[in-house]
Amino acid sequence: MAKHNYSAGPCVLPQGVFKQASEAVLNFNGIDLSILEISHRSKEFIEVMDKAQALVKEVLEVPAGYSVLFLQGGASLEFLMVPFNLMNNNGKAVYLETGAWAKKAYKEAAALGNAEVIASSADKNYNYIPKGYQIPSDVDYFHCTSNNTIYGTQIKDFPKTDALMVCDMSSDIFSKKVDISKFDLIYAGAQKNLGPAGATLVIVKDEILGKTDRKIPSMLDYQIHAKSDSMFNTPPVFSIYVSMLTLEWLKGLGGIEVMQKMNEDKAALLYNEIDSNPLFEGTAELEDRSLMNVTFLLTNEALKDEFDAMWNAANISGIKGHRSVGGYRASMYNALAKESVQALVDVMKELAAKHA
Ligand SMILES: *Cc1c(COP(=O)(O)O)cnc(C)c1O
Repeated sequence: MAKHNYSAGPCVLPQGVFKQASEAVLNFNGIDLSILEISHRSKEFIEVMDKAQALVKEVLEVPAGYSVLFLQGGASLEFLMVPFNLMNNNGKAVYLETGAWAKKAYKEAAALGNAEVIASSADKNYNYIPKGYQIPSDVDYFHCTSNNTIYGTQIKDFPKTDALMVCDMSSDIFSKKVDISKFDLIYAGAQKNLGPAGATLVIVKDEILGKTDRKIPSMLDYQIHAKSDSMFNTPPVFSIYVSMLTLEWLKGLGGIEVMQKMNEDKAALLYNEIDSNPLFEGTAELEDRSLMNVTFLLTNEALKDEFDAMWNAANISGIKGHRSVGGYRASMYNALAKESVQALVDVMKELAAKHA
């Protein structure tokens, strides 16, 4: 039996996708060749790339005028590509610092030019989302992180601004409906809701590109990747193929609205238990709680070994918290079934029955 996999990333993907992907490794689409040994310029792979891009556009309702790119280097390379493409030599960018990833994104921009943290929740170990800050309209762009994978917070209302809006959506893209037209550039490492590590998804408004006075190295230039349809060099073919399968699965379930409802149900189930069970407490501010990564602590540390043994015995894996928060983190990405959340809730109830 598959484990109840709460890994923060790489993470759970649909079992059916694993099956299809493993078949394609042996014999792709009945052509007696593996997906891993055909040219990325073959008709077969170009179909995969086209379909993956089309599914991203369909599932997220991407408006006209945006390019969908599959790049490499993870979200971490986007931290650098964004300022390279959008920040002028004498320009300035502002960053919302809501956690470790946001901080890393800021660091890359600050190494290249003039970047400023406009608001931060570092004062409370990133357990909330700052609000009420003003974004100057004369900056090159504003950067935020929609979901804070490590600290378990999520932006519910994005700020309004005339500046270009750039967002790292690595850990909540495809989990809920977003109005793509409000963003100028979105990026996400594939390994949290889309597919295996290796590909990075970028959705960029075409008209914002080619405006900077900076010289951009080819591999970092979004326009070059867009013009060559994400085939400037060999793309991460397997990651893109499995991403395509995951998007087909998502579409087959009923699309993003159905997925969102399922994610809200799962989150409600677990947060209700955390809030009603005296042995547990959440770490994030209520209004900013993430639907994807649920962070919580035991109220009595002495029960740690017992609780750990219990969830291990219940076939649960990957809920140990990140070292910077401690406690537990249940990452509930799209492919995690509600039954898996129920399995964890049952263990928490069992612990309370013994000790509360
Ligand atoms: C995981 C994660 C990253 C890092 O992604 P890589 O693909 O490993 O570079 C960046 N931002 C967020 C929000 C993440 O969750």
